[in-house]
Amino acid sequence: MFYQHLRNERAISGKQEPEKEKGSHNGVCFRTACSNTGAIWYNHATDHYYCAGCAMTINEANYSDAMRIYGHDLCQRFETPRN
Ligand SMILES: [Zn+2]
Repeated sequence: MFYQHLRNERAISGKQEPEKEKGSHNGVCFRTACSNTGAIWYNHATDHYYCAGCAMTINEANYSDAMRIYGHDLCQRFETPRN
């Protein structure tokens, strides 16, 4: 009971760690239908981050265009934020 009360107060005061913006580095995958976290695959076209699964799908679908435009895969893995 007591702990529940503390937890509620913290939620109300907004002191819990704020959720990262969708598509931010190491946050939630930018793909609308996806809610995977740990998104560290940067999409050079959308300027947002995706999970590994979505990045693979995007890379396969855009392989020839990405090679022509960027000279590499559309989504690339970045351990640290690019900006
Ligand atoms: Zn995803």
